[in-house]
Amino acid sequence: MSTKQLPSYLHNDSVGPWAVFLEQVDRVVPHLGRLAAWADTLRRPKRCLIVDVPIHMDDGSIHHFEGYRVQHNASRGPGKGGVRYHPEVTLSEVMALAGWMTVKNAALNLPYGGAKGGIRVDPKSLSAGELERLTRRYTSEIGIVIGPDKDIPAPDVNTNDKVMAWMMDTYSMNVGATSTGVVTGKPISMGGSLGRRDATGRGCYVVAREAMKRLGMEFAGARVAIQGFGNVGNAAARVFHEQGAKIVAVQDVAGTIYNPAGIDPFRLTDFLADGRVTLRDFPGAEPIGNEAFWTLDCDVLLPAALENQITTANAGAIRARLVVEGANGPTTPQAEDILLARGTVVLPDVLANAGGVTVSYFEWVQNSSSFFWTENDINGRLDRALSDAFRTIWEVALEKNIPLRTAAFVVACSRVLEARALRGLYP
Ligand code: NAD
Repeated sequence: MSTKQLPSYLHNDSVGPWAVFLEQVDRVVPHLGRLAAWADTLRRPKRCLIVDVPIHMDDGSIHHFEGYRVQHNASRGPGKGGVRYHPEVTLSEVMALAGWMTVKNAALNLPYGGAKGGIRVDPKSLSAGELERLTRRYTSEIGIVIGPDKDIPAPDVNTNDKVMAWMMDTYSMNVGATSTGVVTGKPISMGGSLGRRDATGRGCYVVAREAMKRLGMEFAGARVAIQGFGNVGNAAARVFHEQGAKIVAVQDVAGTIYNPAGIDPFRLTDFLADGRVTLRDFPGAEPIGNEAFWTLDCDVLLPAALENQITTANAGAIRARLVVEGANGPTTPQAEDILLARGTVVLPDVLANAGGVTVSYFEWVQNSSSFFWTENDINGRLDRALSDAFRTIWEVALEKNIPLRTAAFVVACSRVLEARALRGLYP
């Protein structure tokens, strides 16, 4: 079936992330053989929940926010995916993010389907109390679909371990028993995993290292430009720096800084901890224009902010040999075509940022056995899981002569649809 025959809410925006996801599915279908018959499973989220989240504001008024939880697929296990707080979150964005989680979890062979959640809110405009009430009410509203065996949320843009602690507590209060495994990315003191905080950024390093080996690129001294200095970008910057690469540029929502001699991400983190300064004030680099970021002379470009950042408007100017997608959906399909035609290698999000969900899986396993592993053990297992997934996807790309993203989708979607076909349709 073509996407044109789908219900209207499934293709109501022609340029947004869900349209990008659908196009990526279309690109993989010719490589799925007999499993292509099940491909519409990927074009339709299993379940979309829209919830009203009313809270008391500090000034005594009542404000209503719109929240979402989408379970894109559950063929291989419970839903799994983060929760995003952002003023521009929409249902179709959450559907795309949930779809990418299905693919990512299967690409890493984790026993999960794919899910994602979000609230349409600017969390910076809320007090700590308002944020807690918002989180608790949202958790109660989506409580009918989440649970350690049903769907397990985690942090995403503008959410963190503190938000996960509130979610875990609210769910536990509602079911009448402490349930550590209902969310991952929790504080260590309440069942979180060592290594989870930096796992997504560390994973970006592992797949970049593996790709650079095969491309004959030297890691030591490689010049890296990073967009986003949050959970993912900050950790990636620190791990790349520790492993000998040079961070030459960083861009965040406040602006862009550049230093061809290298930016020390530890110093930058300490500097920003002050809270009264912005990235552009950092004394260890020069501020430059935001557009100039995309044209910088560098070896590795690591978008780790939001979707649709590399577009037809800037793809032609990108000079990096390797793009590592720390963010979800940072490159439009048309922009990727431009990059590929110019010989740029793109490590797709579903592989490059899978380190976070991989250690989330380790956290969930540790919670279910109440037996906790060392950080060395976790980092070692993470490195092996990502290196193995990288090798499998790289070999499929070479064998079929297809881009790495399509190869990742071939590996992942084959696993998802094989499970779907074996389970069959109920009733
Ligand atoms: P975050 O909120 O911690 O950080 C986001 C960063 O992006 C901030 O530095 C912010 O200033 C910057 N940013 C926001 N808008 C920007 C803009 N218009 N231009 C430039 N910079 C901008 O979020 P995060 O958790 O690091 O997530 C970043 C991306 O990585 C998202 O796409 C997310 O879905 C993805 N991701 C996150 C995880 C995780 O473990 N947190 C895992 C996998 C994928």
